[in-house]
Amino acid sequence: MTHPAQPTASHFINGEYVEDTNGTPIPVIYAATGEQIATVYAATPEIVDRALSTAKEAQKAWAKMTGTERGRILRRAADIMRERNHELSVLETYDTGKPLQETLIADATSGADALEYFGGLAGSLTGEHIPMGEDWVYTVREALGLCVGIGAWNYPTQIACWKGAPALACGNSMVFKPSETTPLCALKVAEILHEAGAPAGIYNVIQGMGEVGGALVTDPRVDKVSLTGSVPTGKKVYAAAAKGMKHVTMELGGKSPLIIFDDADIDNAVGGAINGNFYSSGQVCSNGTRVFVQKGIKEKFLARLAERTGNAILGDPQDEATSFGPMVSENQMNIVLGYIEKGKEEGARLICGGKRADMDGYFIEPTVFADVTDDMTIAREEIFGPVMSVLDFDTEEEVIARANDTEFGLSAGVFTNDFSRAHRVIGQLEAGSCFINSYNDAPVEAPFGGVKASGVGRENSKEAIKHFSQVKSVYVRMGDVEAAF
Ligand code: NDP
Repeated sequence: MTHPAQPTASHFINGEYVEDTNGTPIPVIYAATGEQIATVYAATPEIVDRALSTAKEAQKAWAKMTGTERGRILRRAADIMRERNHELSVLETYDTGKPLQETLIADATSGADALEYFGGLAGSLTGEHIPMGEDWVYTVREALGLCVGIGAWNYPTQIACWKGAPALACGNSMVFKPSETTPLCALKVAEILHEAGAPAGIYNVIQGMGEVGGALVTDPRVDKVSLTGSVPTGKKVYAAAAKGMKHVTMELGGKSPLIIFDDADIDNAVGGAINGNFYSSGQVCSNGTRVFVQKGIKEKFLARLAERTGNAILGDPQDEATSFGPMVSENQMNIVLGYIEKGKEEGARLICGGKRADMDGYFIEPTVFADVTDDMTIAREEIFGPVMSVLDFDTEEEVIARANDTEFGLSAGVFTNDFSRAHRVIGQLEAGSCFINSYNDAPVEAPFGGVKASGVGRENSKEAIKHFSQVKSVYVRMGDVEAAF
């Protein structure tokens, strides 16, 4: 019997599902059991071409609609997503393995927020009038044209919407390629957008591995590339886009610091560290995986952390009582287990977890290492799994220098009850998305993105509009033209 997660077809192009079984088959594996629940096929060059040409064509009329008309469609799509939240959350759980307890509140709902927010902004996108004496200049905020979105596997619905909503609001079209690991949810986003009234071709979804992504990025019809992925992929995609002088947004990885001063409320700090390391089983780019704890409260912090981590409920992700799911894939599980072994070998002190859970699927126990030093592999590399490194520090100055000593710069957090210190420290941390006495909040109203190797550009908020549009300026002379001859 066909599993309910099996999509109608692999691709969604020009307003309809399209199948082409000539492409490489991509098995969809449910991470909680290891069983294959669906199959899709990678896009062949013909499918890539069809997706790009229909999106290119559809964009012209879409950009001519008023912002209010475009926005209405996005807001309608947001309403449909909210009405179908349960069904979409179940699918997200099949796609990623994340527990339903999370997906019910963090995925389709976050996607709907983006559609609603950018739908609301669409009618307000205007230029400026700049007086120049008798003459004047006016500016027009124009669409870029055809945008490509490429997604990572941790938030397939959210990423498809965070890229699609601002792109469409500005009058662009989009071809979106999800990660081959989680191909299911973006198809639903496309289906819902079209049900809400988006013209055929405005938002196409095609499947495939890196090479399909590569074909999209290098195609001369494409004006912009927005990638969510790792730093190595980001470097490749950025370089490929540069050859065609394309606009880019790069939302990449991190190894973010979470600094806990000894005057902090311990339970809030422990809660922040749990949210910043174990949500989505640690598969979150902005996670605060280097937890710097001031020496005075170290043992108290570790004891409370171990106690609360022991309350995680590992189990069937479709059961709402489960609070901790598996790794997205066997491959990712093995990568993370490799890092855990490195942590042990390099002398970090294991506080809890540290192994694969004794159950079906790709579960790893939430893991905490203490006495981690700056040079250890687990303190330097992005693990993308439930592995928290706790490091000690003495002074504010020292911890700022150590927190910044990384190629990454996505996020940073500070827990303290001294508000001048909180702002002083955050002001010196090299990171794009920061938190004070909190961790990992990502509302659509706030800009999201990194500095240094963690990326270029920002998603969400009014900032995203700048990255999906460009400004034309027009000088208007009212009098005669003076010329040298
Ligand atoms: P990858 O970098 O491996 O892949 C990201 C996407 O790029 C996938 O769809 C992948 O396809 C595609 N891709 C791979 N190679 C190329 C290429 N040469 N040209 C075009 N596209 C290509 O990341 P993961 O999927 O493993 O996701 C985890 C990473 O994403 C982590 O580093 C994490 O930090 C980061 N991330 C960043 C976020 C942010 O907003 N800053 C949010 C979420 C995750 P395929 O995998 O199908 O081969």
